[in-house]
Amino acid sequence: MFIDTHTHIYTPEFDADRNEVVARAVEAGAVALLLPNIDEASIRPMLDLCEAHSGLCRPMMGLHPTELPPDPWPLLRRMEQLLAEPGHPYVAVGEVGVDLYWDASRREEQMKVLAHQAGWAVRFGLPLMVHTRAAHREVVEVLRPLARQLTGVFHCFGGTADEAAELLDTFPGFALGIGGVLTFKKSALPAILQQRVPLSRIVVETDAPYLAPTPHRGQRNEPCYLPLVISKLAETYSQPVAAVERQLLDNTHRLFGTPLYI
Ligand SMILES: [Zn+2]
Repeated sequence: MFIDTHTHIYTPEFDADRNEVVARAVEAGAVALLLPNIDEASIRPMLDLCEAHSGLCRPMMGLHPTELPPDPWPLLRRMEQLLAEPGHPYVAVGEVGVDLYWDASRREEQMKVLAHQAGWAVRFGLPLMVHTRAAHREVVEVLRPLARQLTGVFHCFGGTADEAAELLDTFPGFALGIGGVLTFKKSALPAILQQRVPLSRIVVETDAPYLAPTPHRGQRNEPCYLPLVISKLAETYSQPVAAVERQLLDNTHRLFGTPLYI
């Protein structure tokens, strides 16, 4: 059994066979699929998928750093209203973060928007799903003042051993999101995890449709491939697959706080 903590299977890449993708995920052992939001247009398809597969697919709410509209604040206000509604379905604030790889020109604005959304996580008592690309320093600087109040995931961790250690030390309520990159031939991740990251600080994710694990590298990713990542983790930590699966489920529940599957 596993939980894919970060998957975007509501996007158009899955329009042709979304139900089969969900069925294959369940067949492979998925007990929950956590869906980070991206922008305004992604909200409806994400919620439709969660209604079609309630109890399995769980939405998050947030604005992705590469998708800021020219003026992001009206949309941010609408998103905040959604999170303020009693009984809303959202299990986390996300996907939020700073991405200076795609666009470094709005660095300050991205940081401000991240700080604002991190405030929602505190206010609504939700974990934060954080995207960091070429922006380790910026993300640490923005989130550090809230480090003791926040829980969450540094999704698709791709930094150095020192960066991993800094994140885990500074943010005791966070885990690193590990996915297909772990299985890539020249990946530095297995060594970094072995040296600096206890298994208790890891959750698994596909980031579908991106970053499919070996031997599907370069193809569309989907949740049914996640057992490939879990067996690579078992190899990395020299533990039986079943023990790793149990630990990953425990970690996920500790972070998200609520029961994520029935
Ligand atoms: Zn994502």
